[in-house]
Amino acid sequence: MKHNANEDFEKWLEENGEDFSSTKPKNESRETFPCIRCGGTGKYRGIRVHQKENKCFTCGGKGHFLTSEKDRRRAKQHRVNKKAETEKKLLENFINESDANKGIVEFLSSKKDSNFASSLIGGIKKWGSLTEKQKTAVFSWIAKEEDNAKNRATPAAKLDLSKIKEKFDDAREKGIKRCALRIIGFKFTRASDTGRNAGYIYIKDTDNGDLYLGKVSPNGEFFKSYDCKQEHIDGLLKANENIFASARLYGQKTGRCTICGRELTNKRSIELGIGMICQEKWGWEGDLGLLPLLKAKGVI
Ligand SMILES: [Zn+2]
Ligand SMILES: [Zn+2]
Repeated sequence: MKHNANEDFEKWLEENGEDFSSTKPKNESRETFPCIRCGGTGKYRGIRVHQKENKCFTCGGKGHFLTSEKDRRRAKQHRVNKKAETEKKLLENFINESDANKGIVEFLSSKKDSNFASSLIGGIKKWGSLTEKQKTAVFSWIAKEEDNAKNRATPAAKLDLSKIKEKFDDAREKGIKRCALRIIGFKFTRASDTGRNAGYIYIKDTDNGDLYLGKVSPNGEFFKSYDCKQEHIDGLLKANENIFASARLYGQKTGRCTICGRELTNKRSIELGIGMICQEKWGWEGDLGLLPLLKAKGVI
């Protein structure tokens, strides 16, 4: 048998059981970078309370790194950038999912001082979504704020109710303390003289369950409520311009007195929209000039 050096070597490999082909070359002379934190000792040098281990956390007790500090810092920055990118994408996806989500993010972003809001934004960035419970909480928060805004009446502009005010002032001079007028779908009430809003006129929409429309100051400043729409304003100006005609319309439509709101019993009062007693008390000249005409026509 011929001696074969290769065969010997392969036999030796088998016996030793090593698979050299797949073993990575170990770089024994690889450059290392000492850990500055522990001065290369791998041991933590400060005082650590309630900790058994005293190895350096920065280098994991090895005392050195295989990469330079500059490279490590660059790698860390890369991880930070990557994370921010992922968060941005998750937030964008959430916003694009629905208008409701968009509203949620806009609302939460506007709450700069709220830890709760920023923690929810953080949650969206991390998980790409909110739980149903969290969503419900945000929606009720939004609804509450909208409600508050509704109740905060703001002086929008001037509203000319000068003729109604004149009627109230006349009545007040005659010693009538509680003044109210009901004309074409509106109820005007004079605020109490002793209250905070003395001299103001409150306005309600009687066609819509006495819906509050706002108040007008003695100077005509209008503190409009959220529910007051342009069509209300148009109607209010018309009512002020044509008090008597508007009062008649109210009386004919509802059969009630324009001043006290009581049911009117005789034809004459219904035609004029005012009862005899209120007419006398207020000195309401109203459309009295119409009386002969109404008589001639046989209405009364
Ligand atoms: Zn260290
Ligand atoms: Zn009356």
